[in-house]
Amino acid sequence: SEFSWKSFSEKSIIGKGSFGTIYKAKYKEKWYVIKVIDLGSLSDEKSMQAIEEVNIHSKCKSQYIVDYYDSFLDEVDKGERLNIVLEYCENGDLHSLLAKRTQYLPEQEIWSFFIQITLGVHHLHSQDIIHRDMKSLNIFLSEGNKVKIGDLGSASDNSQDNGKDQVSTPYYFSPELCRGEKYTDKCDIWALGCILYEMCYLKRPFEGNEFDELKDRILHEQFEPIPDFYSKELRTLSAQLLNKNATKRPSAEDLIIMDNFIANSKKLG
Ligand code: ADP
Ligand code: MG
Repeated sequence: SEFSWKSFSEKSIIGKGSFGTIYKAKYKEKWYVIKVIDLGSLSDEKSMQAIEEVNIHSKCKSQYIVDYYDSFLDEVDKGERLNIVLEYCENGDLHSLLAKRTQYLPEQEIWSFFIQITLGVHHLHSQDIIHRDMKSLNIFLSEGNKVKIGDLGSASDNSQDNGKDQVSTPYYFSPELCRGEKYTDKCDIWALGCILYEMCYLKRPFEGNEFDELKDRILHEQFEPIPDFYSKELRTLSAQLLNKNATKRPSAEDLIIMDNFIANSKKLG
């Protein structure tokens, strides 16, 4: 491994992960994120999942996915730790960006985010990787608000069938997940629809105070259409992604060859 804790200077904690602590640290004039996971305090199953995050993330090289650099093990009083060295995204996450907005985003900005997120999802799906926790909190933004999909801690390799365990955040659960059915990559497409909707409406398509209420809405209710201030294309697209029938949802492959997608990509250059 190229790195050890000694490689880094100016270490500081920037976040709390579900399995550990997230640090920001400097190495040769460049900032990195180090995701530190206390393997000692985790069950065997959770430890395996953490190691799986490294395996999967190390296979993903795309400008639309947080760069993975390295990982190393070390030992502290509490036991063994897994340290994952990642690209630092200085502009935070998409959820925080949307939370700060008081006015709807211009349509071009939405297309720009949407196109980049979709290209990232396409990169994952073309390698049979399902992210399984797509949400605005896991969409990171680097310099110039370039989109980087992050947190591959729930991702699965299609090949090994860990089909049924529900790992994502309930707000972004697709109808088939609410019914406890097997995962396919279409759950990421539903979540992409939720993210698109959030960008347009600054709120999620389905909310609920308890899981049962939320589930019921996801399964049976129609979401409020996005503001009519946006184009018909954007409204149609959000409805296609949020189709309750997984097989009718477009794939990432379908999305990137859509006329709209191509035309808007060209406008963005
Ligand atoms: P978890 O699996 O616990 O959700 P995440 O990978 O999403 O872990 O990281 C948790 C938090 O750490 C994020 O919400 C964010 O605040 C921060 N963080 C994680 N990765 C990065 C990154 N690459 N750049 C900047 N901040 C990050
Ligand atoms: Mg996360």
